[in-house]
Amino acid sequence: MKNFSILVLLAVFFLGACQQPVKKNTTMIKNPLLGNFDTPFGVPPFSKIKATDYQEAFKKGIEQQNAEIEKIVNNPNAPSFSNTIESLEQSGKLLNRTNTIFENILSANTSDTLQKIAKEEAPILSAHADNILMNRQLFKRINAVYQQKGNLKLNTEQNTLLEKTYKRFVRGGAKLSAADKEKLKEINGKLSVFSLQFGDNVLADNNAFQLYLTDKEDLAGLPPSVVEAAAQTARNHGKTSGWMFTLNKPSLIPFLQYSARRDLREKMFKGYIMRGDNNNQNDNKAIVKQMVNLRLQKAKLLGYPTFSDYVLENSMAKTPQNVFKLLGQITPAAMNMARKEAASLQKLANAEGSHFKIQPWDWWYYTEKLRKQKYNLDDAELRPYFALENVRKGLFKVLQKLYGISFKLNKDIPVYQKDVRAYEVHEADGKLIGILYMDFYPRSTKQGGAWMTAYRKQYRENGKNILPVISVNYNFTKPAGDTPALLSMDEVETMFHEMGHALHGLFSQCQYESLSGTSVPRDFVEMPSQIMENWAVEPSVLKSYAKNYKTGKPIPDALIRKMEASSRFNLGFTLTEYLAASWLDMDWHTITKPFTGKVNTFEKEAMNRIHLIPEIVPRYRSTYFNHIFSGGYASGYYSYVWAEVIDADAYQAFKENGLFDKATATRFRNDILSKGGTEDPMKLFKAFRGRAPKPDAYLKKKGLK
Ligand SMILES: [Zn+2]
Repeated sequence: MKNFSILVLLAVFFLGACQQPVKKNTTMIKNPLLGNFDTPFGVPPFSKIKATDYQEAFKKGIEQQNAEIEKIVNNPNAPSFSNTIESLEQSGKLLNRTNTIFENILSANTSDTLQKIAKEEAPILSAHADNILMNRQLFKRINAVYQQKGNLKLNTEQNTLLEKTYKRFVRGGAKLSAADKEKLKEINGKLSVFSLQFGDNVLADNNAFQLYLTDKEDLAGLPPSVVEAAAQTARNHGKTSGWMFTLNKPSLIPFLQYSARRDLREKMFKGYIMRGDNNNQNDNKAIVKQMVNLRLQKAKLLGYPTFSDYVLENSMAKTPQNVFKLLGQITPAAMNMARKEAASLQKLANAEGSHFKIQPWDWWYYTEKLRKQKYNLDDAELRPYFALENVRKGLFKVLQKLYGISFKLNKDIPVYQKDVRAYEVHEADGKLIGILYMDFYPRSTKQGGAWMTAYRKQYRENGKNILPVISVNYNFTKPAGDTPALLSMDEVETMFHEMGHALHGLFSQCQYESLSGTSVPRDFVEMPSQIMENWAVEPSVLKSYAKNYKTGKPIPDALIRKMEASSRFNLGFTLTEYLAASWLDMDWHTITKPFTGKVNTFEKEAMNRIHLIPEIVPRYRSTYFNHIFSGGYASGYYSYVWAEVIDADAYQAFKENGLFDKATATRFRNDILSKGGTEDPMKLFKAFRGRAPKPDAYLKKKGLK
């Protein structure tokens, strides 16, 4: 299969070259982004792409799509689904491919040059998208097709494509007056640049902070593995001795959990929560202000009262009221749990003879102590059972048992960074499904957090199925010295989570690229990912993969029992910090008048309204809330809990029929994972579950009912 693909590509490549003048051929070799990818499975030829190649490819890609649009508009035949909607869907291949690779590398392996190019290209690409969406003649044709939709005899997927294309144009300003179109273009251009600047600022502030320790006494309380990792970090930063801690989670969290030095915990914690709020060149407050106001302006221009109304029209939740309703149902109970937790922590601190009120930088430390006291369970006791390789193998095994698929490491597939691994993913019968990149560790060139993305989405072209190229990105604890990467339980769940997104991309069986894989509403997209986290912590599954990295012995039953007993421990905190961020997101995007106040005051007032206790800060404060100011989650951060209600209910089906019941797994794959965005998510869920989702399973799981 592999060799076959290469041959086909080579043939196309050389055929093209023979028919073209020599000069064109050299251009193709010079800029690999312009030609066919002469690589195994046609993945991007990463090592051959120079940063400067992108700009040429963007320019050519835009020209190419403009010519394609011109052709659609000037078609003498009456507008039809095929000559308008499908032709538009198929346009812009070079631009899409270039943009996909560029954005993915910008997140996973950035450089100053790439960041500079991104900022130069953002307004150009935004204007190009606007030019298409606001092209009057093009919309006239789309509208003509849309008006006859009842008579076109389209199948479900075609109908969805027509529906979504029409809506995308209307939401993109197609019906606006010429003057308002110009206004919208300007707003979109500014937003595209601000959102990049926001993310760059967070990364810069994140990297600027270092806690460099040279005195052994400063390490009080830290377990040896944490100390060793910090020594490694110091060496990586060019120090010959000492220990360094950074704001990357694998460095920050263990420090907060174990450091007995309250002053240093405070320093680390504040370093983290003050990102983008240091009144330096990386400050994001002015950007937040401008972005929320531009978004409000955009919503109003398009006829919506708030930006949330505009965003949520395309979601499962549909309206801000529905989101507020769900958040309102859960928050008081979560906050109550958190209040009780804070009281227990205070009691513990008092018992130790401390004379202070628990502060946010104390929470992790006393929580770890209390966990140990209550359950005799220590995060450091668990980690040896979660060596990264064992977890990965365990995850692959789970997927094999559920779906029959297998993974084969292939070192011939080009990667964009030496630590990245590429796998072929195969069906039970050996048929290739797609390619999967796994990128595990933090780098200064990589965004924080974890995410899944596609380098190439699945779709069909001239009857041929184009295989997806998917990537999962993490920021896991790195191996230190002779010790392999030992993950926290949270990291284990994250590994499973992103793989759930990956399956959504890999199992896609769609005709159209724009509808395939994870092209679903935000509040549905987290369902396939979150459902995977359930398997990670099932006792029978734990037994199969959680093996001590030194002895190879499976995790003892007693430890599993302790994990189960403590599964709701600190849940009030986790829920509360998440919900606080969700409220903050919704509050920023439901403003009805331009915001003229202070960002920090707005944030404080929003948190007061939900009675957030002072021991907890929202998981993301405004100035480093990348999800909503630099990612695509504006008015969408609530999606995780929305999707959790649905995934808990979906997982219930596996609980009822058997965790690895083949029939249930097959239905989940066929009814949901393979369908992408070709149908309404509620319909997909009902097809799988036989009814609409119920919140019972979620509320029970969280102890909220
Ligand atoms: Zn996710």
